[in-house]
Amino acid sequence: MLIDSHCHLNDPAFEETLSEVIARAKAAGVSRFIVPAYDFESLGRTAELAASSPGVIFPAFGIHPWHVQEPIIYERVLGFIRQNHPVAIGEIGLDFSPECPPHELQIKSLTQQLEWISGVRGFKWCRGIDRLQKLKGASGPDFDRCNHAQYEWASVG
Ligand SMILES: [Zn+2]
Repeated sequence: MLIDSHCHLNDPAFEETLSEVIARAKAAGVSRFIVPAYDFESLGRTAELAASSPGVIFPAFGIHPWHVQEPIIYERVLGFIRQNHPVAIGEIGLDFSPECPPHELQIKSLTQQLEWISGVRGFKWCRGIDRLQKLKGASGPDFDRCNHAQYEWASVG
């Protein structure tokens, strides 16, 4: 069984073609899809998508570092995590590429999300956690795993 562990089928660009995209993927042998939310607007789409395709699409919830300048109600992010049983937490992390939001905002957002999800069971998708640990001079959060796009321990049936 092949699992696409990181695909944004929740992007509005797939709204018209989603069933075709999934059919093509299945024809190529991919039968499960882990779909991480990335901004505040994508949380609901991700939950709806997973609910509409049980056993096929599995959600992850979090705010991507590229979107930390947008209005985010972090209590709602946590609500999605608690109510929708994601197989992973993500998409979260740090991206210090020049075109990305200020480092301080990214660090604040990631720290907030890590704090709130620390007791949530599930794989944490994260980029740049080693950078956060160096900046904070700490051993860092207790992660099951920490990768960009790999969910070895996720349980997807
Ligand atoms: Zn992504």
